[in-house]
Amino acid sequence: MPRPLPETGVAWDALKPRMAEYASGDVRWREGKTAVYVFNAGPEIERVQREAYALFQSENGLGPAAFPSLKRMEEEVVGFGLELLHAPEGASGVITSGGTDSITMAMKAARDYARKGKCVSGPLNIVIPRSAHPAFDKAAALMEIEVRRIALRDYLADAAAMGAAADAATVMIVGSAPNFPYGLIDPIGELSELALTRDLWLHVDACVGGYLAPFVRMNGADIAPFDFALAGVRSISADLHKYGYAAKGASTVFFRAQALQQFMVFDFQDWPGGRMVTPTLAGTRPGGAISAAWAVMNVLGVAGYREKQAQVVAAREKIQAGAEALGFQVLGRPQLGLMAFRHPDADALGLWAKMRERGWFTSLTTEPRSLHLMLSPFHLQVADAYLADLAWALAEVKGAAAPAGVEARYS
Ligand SMILES: *Cc1c(COP(=O)(O)O)cnc(C)c1O
Repeated sequence: MPRPLPETGVAWDALKPRMAEYASGDVRWREGKTAVYVFNAGPEIERVQREAYALFQSENGLGPAAFPSLKRMEEEVVGFGLELLHAPEGASGVITSGGTDSITMAMKAARDYARKGKCVSGPLNIVIPRSAHPAFDKAAALMEIEVRRIALRDYLADAAAMGAAADAATVMIVGSAPNFPYGLIDPIGELSELALTRDLWLHVDACVGGYLAPFVRMNGADIAPFDFALAGVRSISADLHKYGYAAKGASTVFFRAQALQQFMVFDFQDWPGGRMVTPTLAGTRPGGAISAAWAVMNVLGVAGYREKQAQVVAAREKIQAGAEALGFQVLGRPQLGLMAFRHPDADALGLWAKMRERGWFTSLTTEPRSLHLMLSPFHLQVADAYLADLAWALAEVKGAAAPAGVEARYS
């Protein structure tokens, strides 16, 4: 709807309370009652994000020659990620605006690698597990690539079935570490074998786990190899603005070799503005997203991340045990901060709606219908409160039919 801009400007001091008023209907995530959308590592990290972002909020990562500061911070952040994900010498990566950007650009690189590197012509496809993120479909829609979503086995990617679905026109196969709907790490080792045997491009979507799983493993969990330690993995997406606890607008995409990343770069000069080389989907790249990621990573360090991620896992284990004691069944064997769980006698939509009445804003898994949590360090402090409300909600809806008008939807 068109709306006239205020004729004269409004003083910032007068606007501030209006913004607070606008926010009065938002979920109260700082109280820990939201387990989707926001990653809450506490007020100290939030302050680092805000101050570091502000320092470079006007600078533009599009111009590394003008802003060697941002280039340096990006290289250091990318280096941290490559090291954490066992990248070999010669591996490379960049900061993007988010997981969707990272996935889209990895697919663009794989597509161009197939077209230019391997001279594949005609229609192309990708082969992904049913649990893979919709970002792959979005990118495929943009590039007119067919998506073959393959049924899961025990909520995990079925490497054999994916192999059967792949052919000479397959530009990418995908495994998630972990997938979003169940929070489970796909058998990346099997997918890596498949990729090596068939010369396929394996992308690991570690958007939500890339900065979580390495530290959970350091803390002693038995996490199977899922990253560049597996020779078949060619690219990885890992979001800084999720369990990296960076400000929003920051992800990383990594390639086993610089030569593969070259297929991602867009290099153009057939216009009057001179040559423009962009590494990612963006033109202008917000400096603040880069500086905030750099600052948070350096403030936390390995010890800080290990501590935060231990809290995430402790929150998940506590809620898992409490939910199981109430008769809930957890789907698969989650090892990180996400889980899906359902009750044989209570519909998940009904439970979800009841929990919402008590202020909990969480998500849902649809196959099978389950409650879904994506936990932050802060949730350890509210796990008991969550379980008490879950017991209440269960008593309220046990045996009842699914409520009308409730939908699992993220928009
Ligand atoms: C969040 C997520 C994405 C997409 O990332 P955005 O930053 O939301 O664009 C992709 N894959 C998985 C597994 C995710 O959890």
